[in-house]
Amino acid sequence: MNLKEKTIKYAKSIGIDLIGFVKSEVFEDLRERINSRKEKDYLSGFEEKDIEKRIDPQLTMKDAKTIIVVGVPYYIHENNINHDTNPEFYGKISRSSWGKDYHVVLKEKMKKLMELMQEELGKIKYRFFVDTGPLVDRHLAYKAGIGWYGKNNCIITENYGSWVFIGYILCDLEIETENHEENRCAKCNKCIDACPTGALMDNYEYNAKRCISFLTQTKEDISYQLREKMGNSLYGCDVCQLVCPHNVNVEGGYDEFFPEEHNYRPNLLELLQLSNKQFKKKYGDIALGWRGNKVLKRNTIIALGNSGDIKVLDHIKKYLEDSSPMIRKYAAWAAIRLDKVRGKKLLEEHLKKEKDPQVISEIKKLYKYYL
Ligand code: SF4
Ligand code: SF4
Repeated sequence: MNLKEKTIKYAKSIGIDLIGFVKSEVFEDLRERINSRKEKDYLSGFEEKDIEKRIDPQLTMKDAKTIIVVGVPYYIHENNINHDTNPEFYGKISRSSWGKDYHVVLKEKMKKLMELMQEELGKIKYRFFVDTGPLVDRHLAYKAGIGWYGKNNCIITENYGSWVFIGYILCDLEIETENHEENRCAKCNKCIDACPTGALMDNYEYNAKRCISFLTQTKEDISYQLREKMGNSLYGCDVCQLVCPHNVNVEGGYDEFFPEEHNYRPNLLELLQLSNKQFKKKYGDIALGWRGNKVLKRNTIIALGNSGDIKVLDHIKKYLEDSSPMIRKYAAWAAIRLDKVRGKKLLEEHLKKEKDPQVISEIKKLYKYYL
């Protein structure tokens, strides 16, 4: 059994059945793509800033020889979920954040894999990453033959569609590498047509700054047009994956990714009142947790503002008094969006006591845009 076969065997023994290998070398083919995305301002800003680090694994680990790329599936079939929560106003959380934090799950798996290999092979130098690493994980997964690129910019796999989390391990072992998969995207454009914000383009381009997944995580100001398109999304967005024909009848994901009741259609009115302590308890150990309670509260206000139901105005108005100017600004937006007449009245009253120049100027901007 050669090293590659052994690695695959160990990976399978701990439940990793998506695995591939890439030679650790400079990915020159990425340079132009990243530069072009940067020039067009399509990058989210969450990525590694130094382009050399993104394309050269040696800058992260000097003696890396091979990159082991792994994938774990996370699709949970909705008919297996029997939470009977169905609040009148609920928010959507992306499947990627339904269950246990995938960073933790993947890192545990990768660590275990390397421990098993070291038991047999002795000391191995390695470093592993999930999501926040310097290299482009989707590109590695593609090069490693784990899947192919879809026009929705996801890596699509044979058995699990695009519902896979990707992690990678830089190591000093020489392992035989793979050929990448041929592109099998059906080019049906369903993802492009369904994207609420027009973030996807026909030529496999993707503007991360317009993507709801980015919008629900950014702390930057979100334009009114994009807020309106966010609907009731609280964290992430699955639209372009849900419509993809490669994602129908896929095999289910790990049990760890099954949602807790409060991650599946959470009650927006309850989320509004969540204290920081409650937030930590409920959301601290899922992927959504990293952005904190304030961003979740802002997204909740956007979702309620988009509900089209003036009943929620009574709940929103309290947040015009919030200690955070950012929350007050979004509450002002939601008030006007829900009801121009009552919203304006509320804001007129509020302006009499508002001291923050940014909130005052936001309210004036809202008047101009909506009234
Ligand atoms: Fe568009 Fe949502 Fe896909 Fe982002 S995740 S590209 S917003 S459909
Ligand atoms: Fe490709 Fe169609 Fe899937 Fe988009 S929806 S990734 S075009 S197969």
